[in-house]
Amino acid sequence: MRPFTYVRPDSAQAAIEAFAAAGPGARYIAGGTSLYDLMKLDIERPEHLIDVTAIRGLDGIETDGDRLRFEALAPMSAVAINRVVLRDYPVLAESLAKAASQQLRNMATVGGNLLQRTRCLYFRNGAGGVSAGMTYPCNKREPGSGCAAIGGLDRGQAVLGQSRSCTAVSPGDWPVALVALDAYVEILGRQGTRSLPVADLYRLPGGTPHLEFALTPGEIITAIVVPKAAAGRQSTYHKIRDRESYAFALASAAVALDMAGDTVRQARIALGGVATRPWRAVAAEAQLAGKQLTRETAIIAGRAALTGAKAGDHNGFKIELAARTVADALMIAAQRKPA
Ligand code: SF4
Repeated sequence: MRPFTYVRPDSAQAAIEAFAAAGPGARYIAGGTSLYDLMKLDIERPEHLIDVTAIRGLDGIETDGDRLRFEALAPMSAVAINRVVLRDYPVLAESLAKAASQQLRNMATVGGNLLQRTRCLYFRNGAGGVSAGMTYPCNKREPGSGCAAIGGLDRGQAVLGQSRSCTAVSPGDWPVALVALDAYVEILGRQGTRSLPVADLYRLPGGTPHLEFALTPGEIITAIVVPKAAAGRQSTYHKIRDRESYAFALASAAVALDMAGDTVRQARIALGGVATRPWRAVAAEAQLAGKQLTRETAIIAGRAALTGAKAGDHNGFKIELAARTVADALMIAAQRKPA
């Protein structure tokens, strides 16, 4: 084990000051379900841990008014069973309930979940890094070292948004649902507060896959805000995985529909499990606008969602799987009672 210091401030401002004082080796920690895991694998090597779980007043759930607001430290399990979320935004509740195990959902926070790192096999199994004589090069772990997944075992890798430097899939479920609903995050830093669409929180890998999130050092996500929309009730999060419980998505789709009878006024569609960041499927949404939703139009929209997809050696199946996942999600959402 590598040594590290540990502090537990009781306010967000104190946490930010502690981070600034600690310097570049600092990391925030909340539920710890991801960071401790990566520390045990020797992939994350923080020198200073700033535990944010003692910050007061940062775990609320607000559902009144024209938005839902989830404070960052709210446990995933609490949001998943919130009465309003379950009734009016099944896409949100399902994206949380289908992630990880109940024990992990009790510990993990909705803010921390947004910053989960990839499950790429080579990223996780190459602990120690190339310079330490380990087998697998990984540009995300060690910039400039190469990418073992390209030309390697790439069954789980991305077919959308990948680059020559990295093909790792963005692993989350909850962020996919949030992107479909145009959610944004509230952020606190030394310069004050700002907000950012969840979609913009995630960077494409390009030539710098180690830069994953659009946060500056020391910034904290304090809340997630979802503007209320009539489409929330006719929504679903459909997740296809190797086993039905406790597995990451091979393909997933978050869908919310605003319909007039059988006709789609507006569809919101985002993909998970197939892209390097939560992927809004704009072409599929345009394809459906003003059309009657049938199995045939759903499949056409599903294929449109994969526009531009490019397979590696072993993950070509994901393209059709994801298209059908979108189509199935559309049909499931359409069965739900509108607002
Ligand atoms: Fe690393 Fe990305 Fe390549 Fe995986 S795909 S080995 S995370 S650079």
